[in-house]
Amino acid sequence: MLTESEVRALTEFTAEGYLLTSMYFHVPKIQTLSHSKEQIALKDLFREARRRWNLSALSRTQAESLEQDSRRMIEFLSAQTEDGRRDQGLFACSVRGFFKAISLPRSPDTKVCVGDSFCIRPLVAQLDAYPRHCVVVVDREKAALYLFGMGEVEQRTSMQHDVPSHTRESGFGGYLERRIERHVDQEIQRHYQQVIEHLQALFKRYRFERLILAGHKENKAEFEKLLPEELRRRVIGRFVIDAKVATLDQVRQKALEVLREHERDRKQRLIQQALDNAGPMGRAVIGLDGMLGALQKREVQILLIGDNLGAGGKRCSNCGFLGGVSLKECPNCAGPLSAVEDVVEHAISRAIRDGAEVRFIDGSADFERAGNIAALLRYRSELRAT
Ligand SMILES: [Zn+2]
Repeated sequence: MLTESEVRALTEFTAEGYLLTSMYFHVPKIQTLSHSKEQIALKDLFREARRRWNLSALSRTQAESLEQDSRRMIEFLSAQTEDGRRDQGLFACSVRGFFKAISLPRSPDTKVCVGDSFCIRPLVAQLDAYPRHCVVVVDREKAALYLFGMGEVEQRTSMQHDVPSHTRESGFGGYLERRIERHVDQEIQRHYQQVIEHLQALFKRYRFERLILAGHKENKAEFEKLLPEELRRRVIGRFVIDAKVATLDQVRQKALEVLREHERDRKQRLIQQALDNAGPMGRAVIGLDGMLGALQKREVQILLIGDNLGAGGKRCSNCGFLGGVSLKECPNCAGPLSAVEDVVEHAISRAIRDGAEVRFIDGSADFERAGNIAALLRYRSELRAT
């Protein structure tokens, strides 16, 4: 399954002077091509991607490595049975013995990229659409914890705590009744505490940023009060469901609704925050040049990118500086610059490697007016000319 750490590992893979191949493959719904014709079509895609590089300037090892990347990818896709075929992201650098296949939950456009880093934008866009979230369904006796990643359940734990039912008997002037009720309440509290212990263990392992609470209204409230602060501040929403009969599909569906609404609001807030704080002294930058400058200084905390934004640019072969097409030499180290087809793709890779969050923005007129790209900063280094 696609995870943030896998994407990060791809951005950290060092090419060591070699070229890398990335491929996104969307399984056609209707198989219009015969097996052999599909292979020919795929080979054409690889040839097309390699053509952008000056092949005669490549070393023999380099050229053979690229050839082997494509062979391996076509073999991998051909080996999948008709029923077992899945949309894939494939990444290879044969000369260094690297090959990775990641099944994708959402269909990408089929394409091949060859470059000195892996093309990861489609992966980041998929993570953006399905951020990992944890759901706790709880009542006074039962609980279930779900960890969802990419719309699939990654972890599921069910718990049952036998709590004696409240008594209707009375005796000794209500003394017995009060005692039993106290006992029942203690058992409920103990149940909630056990659920929280499980939740904390899950959090420690997966560090999810989004927590959703579900159950009957009053149970959720009782439970939420007991949550430790580090979990409580991650609660992004709640929904009502009967813990005794809730199915996985119902939980997944309702959680997804809560998640979508939360993400929509959050992106709107992030856009507003970027627009409000952009400026020489502010903790945000807008526009491509401002963002690239902040990225170079490792100030970026959250990168916001218009869904379809791409832009040609330059990159320093010496220090990795990313800049606009008009630059003649690297302003950072005066090193030589080479043209890159899409500087945004490189910026996404670098942001991920630096531990920044990358979010895609669609359909915001305010954001488009601001150049379709912005970044919120971890800190503000001196005066910035924006
Ligand atoms: Zn440089």
